[in-house]
Amino acid sequence: MAEARISFLGTGAGNCIHRAHTAIVLDCPDGTRLLLDAGSGNSVLRNGAQLGLYAEDFEHVLLSHRHGDHMGGLPHIQGRRTQMAPNASPLVVHSLEESLAGLQNLFKAVSITHRVDQDSVTTTEGNRVVAWDPAETGQWISLGRHTRASCFPVNHIGGAVGWRVETGGLTIVFSGDTRYSESLVEASQGADVLIHEALTTDDDKEGASRRGHCTAAEAARAAALCGAGQLIITHIDTPFHLNTQALADEARTCYDGPVSVADDLCITTVSSP
Ligand SMILES: [Zn+2]
Ligand SMILES: [Zn+2]
Repeated sequence: MAEARISFLGTGAGNCIHRAHTAIVLDCPDGTRLLLDAGSGNSVLRNGAQLGLYAEDFEHVLLSHRHGDHMGGLPHIQGRRTQMAPNASPLVVHSLEESLAGLQNLFKAVSITHRVDQDSVTTTEGNRVVAWDPAETGQWISLGRHTRASCFPVNHIGGAVGWRVETGGLTIVFSGDTRYSESLVEASQGADVLIHEALTTDDDKEGASRRGHCTAAEAARAAALCGAGQLIITHIDTPFHLNTQALADEARTCYDGPVSVADDLCITTVSSP
């Protein structure tokens, strides 16, 4: 029986004062480890260490978009990784060109000695420590013996995508940040797990949309329409940190399957039938 493990290292929205920013480790049945978004600051390093997940063990990052709460941790992940495993193969970051350009600018801004160009980040010793892999929506990327991923456009900012990962007979979809998105529904058909953001409830539907996000009801509607096996809500904002029940309750009015709300450091396993 194939089993995947999903470890949430950060589950907070950009302005959340209680939680680390979005970062998820997906351990696939074939041993492939994927980092879905990279949080900010050193939160992936700190929270990862608590779960025995270390930067030097990451090889692939699937980046949803270029907002700081999703990519800001990458220079620190690279720094720790280079320190602990200087001769390791480069950390490969997969995303649309537009998001990678933003990330390259971040590395240029913070790197003192590294060379950052269109292809990679290189140390003064000549080691390539990060490689950029420009993705195209709908195109499959092989990531492991039985693991592949494909990104799809979502409705947030330019270049924002969600990711569909297929591994050992399991399908896991991550929305990244998005308003309600038809393209997500289309790309998520038959997902075993849909990890979807929800900033608020329908009480502030307009505010969520204005900020480029969706409500728990909208996330649940997407889960219902794509036939997801379960819905995990993440990207939690400050008012819902201690009141995630409101998000789950609203989601359950639109979707019959299991609904949960992720917390920092929580781990979910999913098995093929
Ligand atoms: Zn965000
Ligand atoms: Zn965002």
